[in-house]
Amino acid sequence: MKSIDIILPPDRKDTPEGDIKLSYPNCATATLLQTEDGKRILFDTGAFGYADKLVKGLKTRNLRPEDINYVILSHAHFDHNANAYLFKNAQLIQDKWLIDIATGKTRKFGKEYHETPHIGVNGLKIIHTPGHTEDSISVLAECHGNTYAIVGDAIKASLIKKGNIPGSYSNPEQYLENMKMLFSIADIIITGEDGIIEGTNFKDIKELLRTVTTGD
Ligand SMILES: [Zn+2]
Repeated sequence: MKSIDIILPPDRKDTPEGDIKLSYPNCATATLLQTEDGKRILFDTGAFGYADKLVKGLKTRNLRPEDINYVILSHAHFDHNANAYLFKNAQLIQDKWLIDIATGKTRKFGKEYHETPHIGVNGLKIIHTPGHTEDSISVLAECHGNTYAIVGDAIKASLIKKGNIPGSYSNPEQYLENMKMLFSIADIIITGEDGIIEGTNFKDIKELLRTVTTGD
């Protein structure tokens, strides 16, 4: 991979009111990956109300939405996928389905439920990382000697710091297992909520992860 850049940083507007946490509107990180041979891949597209910021992020790299070849959506939550419609020339990749945005045609990928799509980009692998939701996927990519994991909500530092995975997740045990797997294979992690996790911060969070439990 030639470069991996956050073009839209996460924006959290959690406003606790008594026992109720109002977590909208929030916007997840959007990350641009560019290959040596000129392919451009966008991982997640941000939330409603953030289209202008996303397009501006591309513009600072001299790119327009039409220049994106692939849009990979980590999972079907609106703070991650709301702006996918902007990318008219991109192949949209999400769990279970490949959608051609230009024609609207869809096709199921894989012979089996858990098979993840291959997009034929060297140094990039899409893996299945369920637990937050059933349809969560992540990207592993090599860039300048580091292994990046770009994971959407498959890792949340806030939960690791809290020490517990909520029972409301689709599979808390699997979520915890996948977080441990991602921290063991990656050097740098980009999440939907935290942006980039690297260096000392990476080491500290990885250490904390050992004490995390599941079940409320
Ligand atoms: Zn989510």
